[in-house]
Parts: sequence; C-alpha cells; structure tokens
Amino acid sequence: MAIQWFPGHMTIARKKAAETLARIDVVIEVLDARCPEASSNPMIGVLRLHRQRPCLKLLNKADLADPEATRAWLDSYNRQKGVMAAAISCKKPGDAARVPALCQQLAPHRDGGVKPLRMMIMGVPNVGKSTLMNALLKRRLAKVGDEPAVTKSQQSFDLGARMTLTDTPGLMWPNIEHDADGMMLAASHAIGRNAVPEEEVAVFLANILLERYPARLATRYGFAAKGLDGPGVIEAVARRRGCIVKGRGGEPDLEKASMILLQDYRDGALGRISLETPETRRVMLGT
Ligand code: GDP
Repeated sequence: MAIQWFPGHMTIARKKAAETLARIDVVIEVLDARCPEASSNPMIGVLRLHRQRPCLKLLNKADLADPEATRAWLDSYNRQKGVMAAAISCKKPGDAARVPALCQQLAPHRDGGVKPLRMMIMGVPNVGKSTLMNALLKRRLAKVGDEPAVTKSQQSFDLGARMTLTDTPGLMWPNIEHDADGMMLAASHAIGRNAVPEEEVAVFLANILLERYPARLATRYGFAAKGLDGPGVIEAVARRRGCIVKGRGGEPDLEKASMILLQDYRDGALGRISLETPETRRVMLGT
C-alpha cells in the first residue's frame, strides 16, 4: 500500500519555501518528538543544504514522547553537521523562549543591529508550528488547530529589533517512502483522517504498544497484553469499553475501539510513548 497525500497547495508551499530560504539564516525544523524521522520532510533537508543553512531540529511535543527515546534522538541529531537539536514542549511556558538563543548559536555572525537573525519555521502539518510561533511572539497570531494543514499562508514577523521569524505552510512530501512512516504520521495526526483507515492505524499502534509498552495496555484498559496480536488488542479494547455493533449479537465495534486507542495515544492517556527510536529506525531501514 502506498500512501499518496499531496494536495496542490503543498507544491506552492514548497516553491515559496525555497525562495524564502535564500533570505533566512537558520531553519527551525519542527518535528514530532514521538516520531521525529517519520515527521521530517526530506525536502527540508534538500532545500537547506542547497542554501547551506544550519538547522535547529526541535523535537516538539516532548511532553508526550518517551524521554529515553527523545534522548537517543537528540544524541543522534546533534552528531549531524550543521544541526542542533533540542526537545521542547511548545505548550509549556518558557520552553519556546529557549529557541532564539539556540538559533543565535547556529548563526553567530547574525548578531543583531544591522544584521538581524532571520529564522524560518518549517515542518509537516500538525507538529506544532503555529503553537511555537504564538509562543515566540507571545500573542495569538497564527491559527492553531488539531486538524492537519491549518497553517496555509506564509507569514513573517519581527521578534524584537534583532530577529525576524517566518512561518511556512505545512510541507509534506509527494509520497511517503515507507508505509510505516505514513502510519506513524496518521497515528500522530499529521496526515488527515481519511488518508489511511483508522483501524489499520490502530493495529499498527497496537503492535508497537505490544512490543515496547505492553504494561500501558494493562494500566489503561485492564487487560493482559500477553498472547495478543495487534487486532487482538483492538478487540480487547472494544470488549473492555463496551463497544458493540448494534443488532449483531454482541459483535465488537472495532472501528470505535480503534478510535479510542488512537485518541488515548494522541492525548497522552497511554503515557509517554515514542513510535520510533534511532534503533527501531535502523532496523526498519535495514542499515
Ligand atoms: P501546525 O499545523 O504545525 O501549525 O500545528 P499546531 O500548532 O496547529 O498544533 C497542532 C496540535 O498540536 C494542536 O492541538 C496543539 O495544541 C498541539 N501541540 C502543539 N505543540 C504541542 C506540545 O508541545 N505538546 C502537546 N501535547 N501538544 C502540542
């Protein structure tokens, strides 16, 4: 199954981003800390390397991610040339305030006065770009939503006299190379509800939970994960939560149970979970 998700406005966004990149000093790439590689758009790397721009990789929503996995990701990113990585939670007051100083370190020659530091925020939909923008500007300017692709047009703002900040629309790649990436993005709500059937995404999530966080299932739903497979987890959630298809002799409502599992993951109700680590990524890619 290949997930194709390439709305027309993304093409325009990418073109515009390439033009704007010529006029900025540091790229702030916002990633979802729960799946940093799946939520990184390869196009951003291509664009910034072409212009030789350093990059601050922000692993946002770190409040929802597994701290151990986040640490491993930071180590791995901080070893890359021209890259600095930090874990933040835009929703925590003060976290976003660290961002300008980090960017300044990446572009020491842009030290204010006649040469203000020019930053640009990039990232796939729903990773928290608008929330970051608002936190940095300390007022509600960008529209924040939990539906993908709310940020539509490019905006530029002065951040005091010494810094400017540009926002780009959510960038998405033309096709997702690995199905697992599509699944992680769908689970984390970075691609729209209809791109992949919720039940498939829920089974994908259930398999990760079984492999790496089985105790969370017991804590949240009160059933033992041992011996279950992905679909078995969904069925167990349905039974525990009384999701029954009406008029079908007690048949479990797997669609409803899938939504419950996904929503619990998205809200952090299953605890802090990362869908990938540098190690699982290596295994997935066979490198
Ligand atoms: P954008 O599409 O990249 O601009 O993403 P938004 O800023 O609209 O954020 C998408 C959703 O993620 C919203 O519901 C935000 O409230 C939520 N969000 C953003 N940052 C964080 C964070 O650090 N932690 C948590 N838990 N939620 C966040």
